[in-house]
Amino acid sequence: MSDNFDVVVIGAGPAGYAAAIRCAQLGLNTACIDKSLGKDGKPVFGGTCLNWGCIPSKALLDASHKYLDAKEHFAEIGITVESVGIDVPRMIARKDKVVSGMTQGIAGLFKGNGVTGLAGTGKLLANRRVELCPHEGNATIIQAEHVILAPGSVPVEIPPTPIDGDRIVDSTGALEFTEVPERVSVIGAGVIGLELGSVWSRLGSEVVVLEALEEFLPMVDQRIARDSLKIFKGQGLDIRLGTLVTGSEVRAGEVVVSYRDNVGEQTVTVDKLIVAVGRKPYTEELLAPDSGINLDEGGFVKVNDLCATDAPDIYAVGDAVRGPMLAHKGTEEGVMVAERIAGFKPLVNYETVPSVIYTHPEIAWVGKTEQEVKTSGESYAVGQFPFSASGRAQAANDTQGIVKVIADAQTDRILGVHVLGPQASEIVAQAVIAMEFDASAEDLGLTMFAHPTLSEAFHEAALSVAGHAIHVVNRKKRN
Ligand code: FAD
Ligand code: AMP
Repeated sequence: MSDNFDVVVIGAGPAGYAAAIRCAQLGLNTACIDKSLGKDGKPVFGGTCLNWGCIPSKALLDASHKYLDAKEHFAEIGITVESVGIDVPRMIARKDKVVSGMTQGIAGLFKGNGVTGLAGTGKLLANRRVELCPHEGNATIIQAEHVILAPGSVPVEIPPTPIDGDRIVDSTGALEFTEVPERVSVIGAGVIGLELGSVWSRLGSEVVVLEALEEFLPMVDQRIARDSLKIFKGQGLDIRLGTLVTGSEVRAGEVVVSYRDNVGEQTVTVDKLIVAVGRKPYTEELLAPDSGINLDEGGFVKVNDLCATDAPDIYAVGDAVRGPMLAHKGTEEGVMVAERIAGFKPLVNYETVPSVIYTHPEIAWVGKTEQEVKTSGESYAVGQFPFSASGRAQAANDTQGIVKVIADAQTDRILGVHVLGPQASEIVAQAVIAMEFDASAEDLGLTMFAHPTLSEAFHEAALSVAGHAIHVVNRKKRN
């Protein structure tokens, strides 16, 4: 291996591997270092997203959704099945196969693009030197012209519920249960808590979600949050808001979780406790004292809008820097930095980062919520369309939820789009494109959508901003 590179990337999650691949595509001699080991103990690329995050959670969400559909909803559409069973080890093995296919895919992309993938821990020293400590053998020093830090994030732990990897687990452990626990509690009704709670609830666990805040999903449009809370409770998720977890005790193979709510001190006894109280930037072992990099008060690597750190020619991207902890946000930052190193001038548009919660129905949104627009004092108009009025949703027996479009009342420019419904994650991509191109609600109304599609609900919601929806009676009637 050469010990000089144009670019060294530390971290091969979606932020780091995308940066490395794009650098190599642009002709830069690039290395990407990652220290992760897979379940088989071998080095893997792909970071949290591929190994312990987005992909494995979606594999289990998809499998558990299919199981529940077969068990509870097939009869409604005229399909009878004798008996529907669950084989958890097989479900987990399939999830692992998906993960290993994807991580091997990254190794293949590195090879195909000419990225030197290195297994071990990377530490940034002074003057753009990087120390590589391989899993076995001696450390080496690599000299780089540019360094991109992409070390990602790890789950937050809280003192009342120390992770033991058996009864008390974090999101990684919750993807590895070998059987369906009878009783599960999840701490945190955030994105990860709701997704993992949904998986085990669909497979048959009684799930209690304990959330310290009084408000459900405060970052989501209030109408969507309200409607989704009702739906999730209807699905059997016992979501208890305003409950602060204060302690836990593992005894006789179960966990007694203590919490405080407006009634007083309470307990709930479960077989597994999933701690999903957020994630924090991971910068352990990353920076030598004289690296020249500063962290902010939250422990994130300090960067400007272009992901440049306080040290020349050193950048940081992904979960370890400010902004939402989302794979696609990190990927866009990684690509932007690669292109800037190569002399181009792209920007990341932080106004159009889509967010998704992969429950069923899914919740997806981009731009401002109605409460944000209201607080900012902007005058705005709202268009809404329920999936119950969508022919495709009716045909698919999947009619819960709405699409909501918020537009500037003066300019008609789209300010935010909020979807609760089937395939909300796919529908919101259309809203992102519309907002990237500064579309108005009228522009969307004038765009033709294929029939019958779930996306028509987005079209109709855009039409309804001006009171022109066809398949629902408009609340405001205009010519
Ligand atoms: P990471 O993916 O965390 O990768 C960083 C890598 O760097 C890791 O492999 C780490 O070991 C390595 N590393 C760190 N320090 C060093 C070092 N010093 N030397 C060598 N290697 C180092 N996001 C979405 O957008 N959609 C989802 O559906 C979604 N679902 C999720 C579900 C779960 C259960 C979890 C936990 C997360 C989910 N996320 C999701 C979040 C997503 O996984 C992260 O936002 C994303 O992985 C961040 O990418 P990253 O490249 O910044 O860091
Ligand atoms: P997120 O940051 O979106 O992953 O969500 C994590 C959630 O966990 C937040 O909504 C927090 O309010 C919640 N949370 C954090 N600590 C506790 C606690 N001790 N008890 C209950 N909920 C908590």
